[in-house]
Amino acid sequence: MNDIIHECYRRAGKVASKVRKDAVGRIKEDVPLLEVAEYVEKRIETLGAKPAFPCNISLNEVASHYTPEDYMPRFKKGDVVKIDIGAHIDGYIADTATTIELGTKNHTRLIMSCDEALEKAIASIKDRAETGAIGKIIEETIKKHGFNPVKDLTGHSLERYKLHAGVTIPNCKSFFSNRIKKDMVFAIEPFATYGKGNIKHGKPHIFALSGRIKGKEPEEIRKRFGTLPFALRWIPEINRKGLREYHELIEAGGEIVAQSEHTVIVNEEGCEVITR
Ligand code: MN
Ligand code: MN
Repeated sequence: MNDIIHECYRRAGKVASKVRKDAVGRIKEDVPLLEVAEYVEKRIETLGAKPAFPCNISLNEVASHYTPEDYMPRFKKGDVVKIDIGAHIDGYIADTATTIELGTKNHTRLIMSCDEALEKAIASIKDRAETGAIGKIIEETIKKHGFNPVKDLTGHSLERYKLHAGVTIPNCKSFFSNRIKKDMVFAIEPFATYGKGNIKHGKPHIFALSGRIKGKEPEEIRKRFGTLPFALRWIPEINRKGLREYHELIEAGGEIVAQSEHTVIVNEEGCEVITR
């Protein structure tokens, strides 16, 4: 990886990390989710990066891909809140997430199992490591605490302007495995749940250009976002027809889910975590 690209990743990582920490302090009872999402997206720009996707704020049994559209949903006491943030510099993306439980301590161990699984995965990733072996470590760590990994969701490689660049890091041991190479960039994101860990789809709240639609309107959006995801609230005038839809990802049994995520750059001996 050349120094310029490396520096872009490092800067994106610093912004995402700072904004994640600042955002956690704003998650309070009765605050609209939208207020925190808009804070995150503006703060990313203030710090010199751009949002790589709409701020995801997913509650309780919703694992991922929810972004608020109006002031209706508000945080409640006892919510298990996943806040997932993406920042990019010139297309080089840092993707990071954390879970907090609002005002209660009923799910501390569930959340901790995710953090521990993430740390163990980070400690085991390096040049020539196998993605399947990392998945096994994630699964064993979460199961040791009595929970299940969400097998239907995975970590993913990142490339310039590509949030999911083709190589996945499973959250369980997997027959399919890829050999990781130095300089690859990965978002590692274990999810843990009390349920079986299967996912069902909810409504779409996040969208991207699919490449199928032509005309003036998509061209303007393409200039602004490329193929990166966006929220309708960012471009209220857009016609939804033909857009790629990201559906809300919900634990199929309705059980609570926790998530932790960092972005890493793989090197010979291990990795550099850019979103600490
Ligand atoms: Mn993420
Ligand atoms: Mn991710």
